[in-house]
Order: sequence, then C-alpha cells, then structure tokens
Amino acid sequence: MKQSVKLIVGNWKMHGVSADVSEALALKEGLAGAPPSCRIALCPPATLTDRLRRVLADSAVEVGGQDCHEKASGAFTGSVSADMLADAGATLVILGHSERRAAFGETDADVAAKVEAAMAAGLEPIVCVGETLEQHEAGQAVAVVSAQIAGSLPDGLSERDFAVAYEPVWAIGTGLTPTLEQIAEVHAAIRTAMIQRLGEPARRAPILYGGSVKPDNAAEILAVPEVGGALVGGASLKADDFLKIVHAA
Ligand code: PGA
Repeated sequence: MKQSVKLIVGNWKMHGVSADVSEALALKEGLAGAPPSCRIALCPPATLTDRLRRVLADSAVEVGGQDCHEKASGAFTGSVSADMLADAGATLVILGHSERRAAFGETDADVAAKVEAAMAAGLEPIVCVGETLEQHEAGQAVAVVSAQIAGSLPDGLSERDFAVAYEPVWAIGTGLTPTLEQIAEVHAAIRTAMIQRLGEPARRAPILYGGSVKPDNAAEILAVPEVGGALVGGASLKADDFLKIVHAA
C-alpha cells in the first residue's frame, strides 16, 4: 500500500509555561531551511495554544489540543470546548488519551461525543486507543483496541480527516515498547476495526503509534507497516529530541 506522509504529534500533557515557548521556537528554527517530509503538530496545554500558534506562524508546525468538552459552550466550569481550541488556532485535537480514560473516567461513548464536537468545530480528531498491562499480558490487546475503535468513532467520521493513535497504556512514559511485530499486529487489527466501523474510506486515516517513542527507536517504529506517524509525549518537550524524531519520519 502506498504510504502517505507521516504525522508526528507532540503531546506536552500538563507541562509547559511561557518559558517553554522557546522549545517551540527552537523547533521552528530547527526546521527552517530543511522542509520536513512529514506533517508535524504540537499539542500544548490549552493555555499555550494561542502563544504557540503565534510562535509557529510561518512554519509547517500545527498546533493542537489535548482534549475538549463535548459541548461548544455552556455552564461547564473549567472546561475548554473544541470551538475554543479552534478559535485559539488549533487544527487538531487528541481525544480519548488513556490518561483521560483512566483519571477522568472517559468512556468510549464520551470519546465519540468529543469526536463529534471536534468535527463540528473543524478540528481533526486524533482518537487514542490502547490496552493496559494486564490486558496485554492476557493477550487481549487486539480485542481491547477493536472494541475501543467500535465505540469511539462516531458516524460520519469517515468523511472527515482524522487519525487514530495506538498507545499501549503500559508503554506510556515507561521506556517500554511493544516489539515491532506486536505493533504491526495491533495496527493491522485497528485498520480492520476502523474499516468495519466506518467502511472503506477509513483506509485513508493514519494510525499513529504512541508510547515511549524516542529519537533512538523512532525510525524502526515508523517503518512498521500501517504505522502512519507517532504520538510523542516526553520526547516532544525538548526541541532537540523532537526534531530527531521528525527527521526519522
Ligand atoms: P510518552 O507519552 O511518549 O511520554 O510515552 C506518549 C503519550 O502519552 O502520548
């Protein structure tokens, strides 16, 4: 199958204050003169969305959100809507990250509602799925991610640009990664589940791998069949590391 351009997304999580905008600037400067062969986005905390959009203006780097509320506006103290992220300059949004599923109890239905909100706001959703260590050890990875795909992708998504991210929970922030064979197996299963859920158009959407992607393993992971990019946490916080991953794509 023809492999389109890789999508490399940095997830800053709850890291980043004004001083860290310098890392985005260093990323922009590091890319200057050498146009990347991949698509790149940084997802900072919501408070930095507008700042990064300004800093990254005139660069190929897009800005995204890490979550959004399912409603466009209303009495939801503390929440940020997809429309607000889009207004601040975001073009995409990470949804259903395992940290949100675990710490905030987000269900597949919640994620699907947020994906709909993102679609309505014109944001490209990146829908995260992944099994826990217990599920991994019980050989349930394919079953778990297939069920998450079935429940988290709403009708109508196939007509839009979107991505899925396979993030084994046990690989996030641990330095552990699945074998390349395991990544290939789960990505193939995710593709099958996406097509079952949304039909043939779902073939177009990239499936990113996330979980301890680092400069020294990015190239081999990105070369695995059906790996259409990477969702990078810790290694996206420093421009030097993130640039190495971008150059591996
Ligand atoms: P990590 O995080 O790269 O630090 O493992 C990935 C993620 O949670 O998106």
